[in-house]
Amino acid sequence: MIQSKGYAAQSASAPLTPFSFERRDPGPKDVVVEIAYSGICHSDIHQVRDEWGGSMYPMVPGHEIVGKVTAVGSAVKKFKVGDLAGVGVTVQTCMECENCLAHAEPYCKKGMVGTYNAKDYDGSVTYGGYANNIVAPEHYVYSVSPKLDLAAVAPLLCAGITTWSPLKHWNVGPGKKVGVVGLGGLGHMALKFAHSLGAQVTLFTTSEGKIADGKRLGANEVVISKDAEAMKKQAGSFDFIIDCVSADHDINAYLSLLRLDGTICLVGLPEKGVQVSSFAIVANRHSLSGSMIGGMQETQEMLDYCAEHNIVSDIELIGVEKIDEAYNRVVKADVKYRFVIDMKSLAA
Ligand code: NAP
Ligand code: ZN
Repeated sequence: MIQSKGYAAQSASAPLTPFSFERRDPGPKDVVVEIAYSGICHSDIHQVRDEWGGSMYPMVPGHEIVGKVTAVGSAVKKFKVGDLAGVGVTVQTCMECENCLAHAEPYCKKGMVGTYNAKDYDGSVTYGGYANNIVAPEHYVYSVSPKLDLAAVAPLLCAGITTWSPLKHWNVGPGKKVGVVGLGGLGHMALKFAHSLGAQVTLFTTSEGKIADGKRLGANEVVISKDAEAMKKQAGSFDFIIDCVSADHDINAYLSLLRLDGTICLVGLPEKGVQVSSFAIVANRHSLSGSMIGGMQETQEMLDYCAEHNIVSDIELIGVEKIDEAYNRVVKADVKYRFVIDMKSLAA
């Protein structure tokens, strides 16, 4: 077994504390990554605090992982020791069902195995990236370009692919008017990608202090969603809206902003879910949809696109001792725009 150390939640209400554990020795298809940086996703907070139900403790969160390969199994083809690599939200799928065969692994019919807080197919519990190392099958490990700031690449493994995948699926590009709701970790990547793909982009935020950042990150226009008059002016004008909000909110206000055949896609996963008015959907033949992370192939495509277009996340780098403080700031919508843990701080 490989010795690991990291930070774990022991219950839904306890702060994260140091935790030692073991990971499997690498099998023929496995890659061992020494973790340099790990992003903090709002999903970590939902799960640590058991807001979705079924959380397992101790829990080592973290699914935005980058670092260096330290060992590879005998059948590994893509990686060698010393390569930069990333691991995201998924570490196992069946690879046999129609969804896996269509490169849509998060929708695996057997159930995808999450990087943490999940039971792997062998019955073991998975532990995530707030740790010094991780072992994952090669299929779920990505190549990372040395051209980019490694710490700022970490959030691409979840915030990046979760926004990239729906933007590509719904053909966001030149001539499309796109709305991004909520400027947090996911929202800021949605702005960067939608802008880079050539769309006309509007940010909807509850935070007046984020107007300038919204424009810097790629919005042509910023609307304060609490301003009813400003919202009214946008009615019936959007082709596509991506909703990145982590807390309960009124989605019907955004449905009315779609034009004929417009789509709103939920990526945010608030504790209670959304309440939808039938009239808001039926009017203008609107579509309400959702999207989960992204497939392995499109994740690598996204990382390659980011290397080519020099796109990374805007981050606040912290030590492990600041995780709880960071969680509280994320919940208050006060993160610019993703916390990333420097794993060197584990040794301190
Ligand atoms: P985050 O950094 O906390 O950003 C969420 C943003 O939502 C906030 O910055 C804030 O933006 C807005 N917001 C917060 N409370 C609000 C409220 N009461 N009303 C309206 N807006 C509010 O979170 P994240 O890491 O980007 O994650 C966002 C959500 O996506 C989470 O629920 C997470 O679990 C989920 N997620 C889903 C997937 C997937 O596969 N679908 C993947 C990753 C994460 P403003 O200040 O601009 O209003
Ligand atoms: Zn995430």
